[in-house]
Amino acid sequence: MPLQLYNTLTRKKEVFRPIDKGTVRMYNCGPTVYDYPHIGNCRAFLLGDLLRRYLEFKGLNVNQVMNITDVDDKTIRDSQKEGVSLKEFTERYTKAFMDDLASLNVKPATTYPKATEHIKDMVELVSILLDKGIAYKAEDGIYFDVSKFKGYGKLAHINLEELKAGASERVKSDEYAKDKVQDFALWKAWDKDDGDVFWETEVGKGRPGWHIECSAMSRKYLGQPFDIHTGGIDLVFPHHENEIAQSEAAYGKKFVNYWVHNEFILVEGKKMSKSLGNFFTLRDLIQKGHDPFAIRYSLISAHYRQQLNFTIKGLEAAKQSVQRLQDCADKLRAWESDTEDNQDIPDLVKLAIDGFEAEMDDDLNISNALAIIFEFVKNINKLMLEGKLSTEDAKNALELLQRFDAVLGVLKHEEQSLDEDIQALVEEREEARKNKDYEKADKIRDELKEKGIILEDTSQGVRW
Ligand SMILES: [Zn+2]
Repeated sequence: MPLQLYNTLTRKKEVFRPIDKGTVRMYNCGPTVYDYPHIGNCRAFLLGDLLRRYLEFKGLNVNQVMNITDVDDKTIRDSQKEGVSLKEFTERYTKAFMDDLASLNVKPATTYPKATEHIKDMVELVSILLDKGIAYKAEDGIYFDVSKFKGYGKLAHINLEELKAGASERVKSDEYAKDKVQDFALWKAWDKDDGDVFWETEVGKGRPGWHIECSAMSRKYLGQPFDIHTGGIDLVFPHHENEIAQSEAAYGKKFVNYWVHNEFILVEGKKMSKSLGNFFTLRDLIQKGHDPFAIRYSLISAHYRQQLNFTIKGLEAAKQSVQRLQDCADKLRAWESDTEDNQDIPDLVKLAIDGFEAEMDDDLNISNALAIIFEFVKNINKLMLEGKLSTEDAKNALELLQRFDAVLGVLKHEEQSLDEDIQALVEEREEARKNKDYEKADKIRDELKEKGIILEDTSQGVRW
């Protein structure tokens, strides 16, 4: 059965057909690294992960690119406020972001390009737009003339005529409202507020606008057109609209085939805000003792195009759901029985896998897909209770649960078994770290490294 995805561009569910047979090229708008990701951000990153995992489940390879925006208005503003260099500032939050992805069991993307490492590609794109007369120079930067691109507004469904957007109006800021369609900045000329953040380039001294980053980096790693572009619904305008304008105007061909956007998140029924006290970063929740796998589950378990009401009560329920899956998997793994094979198992397995796939094919209808998984778990638990499951049946059932989990990503699989000497060294080092004997800790770390064990200290303890 073919996968259907809701395409924001056409406002319709469409059968997904990758450009290249067998491989999908997908771009997920990544973080602006000026703060710790909040759970609304996490939902968007998890949509990219869920989609990638499901495409892999369907037997496709996925070339997945997620950008790191490490230069923009916000990163410059906040690094200056703190009095540290842009690089030091953004590296801290990039690392935090990567740690958060690992906590959420997000599969690493193929590439995480950083904006600051692709200035040349952006300048090249700006130059093409200048040469074509679509971009123009103003005293404070280089702007995209929206009246020169016929398709402007097609993603956000904006009618330019109605808005009577004049070429005389322009906006330097990266973010602005939909009723304020204006020429937008491709390149921002240096001014003193930028401090030491600038590049001397053939289009002048300055820095890129936010939108040009994604156009340039997606093209570099995925070509044009590519298959899928994802992001939060708040990015439709102006960010994604402007990406389309830049890329299509410059190269005269379609930019992206499928635009997939996730809805907002509410927390305890309200818009998340610091003043309401319902603003959570992933770190906040983990520090409060919530299991990151339960957080993952609760963020993926509602359909991505529905608003998700994130609540602490819901998080508790998510934890129980994950535990139910885990218990079933653990029991199946340990199951041994000399009863004969149950004739119903092949049908149960087939019904579950077909049902799961049919639901996920329907624009990732995860809530229905989960219902099918839990029905299967209920049936298997019952058969175990009645002693009607053979060792072979248990193996088959476990295999199916693992296939489901390749998409869900919420089960803990058998611990990687370390040999005892190494385990002892890891513990000795932990002890040294606790006693602030960092010299000894580092020595043990090096010793382990020689044995091919790389340790990574995370907020949840040590990982290898
Ligand atoms: Zn982007």
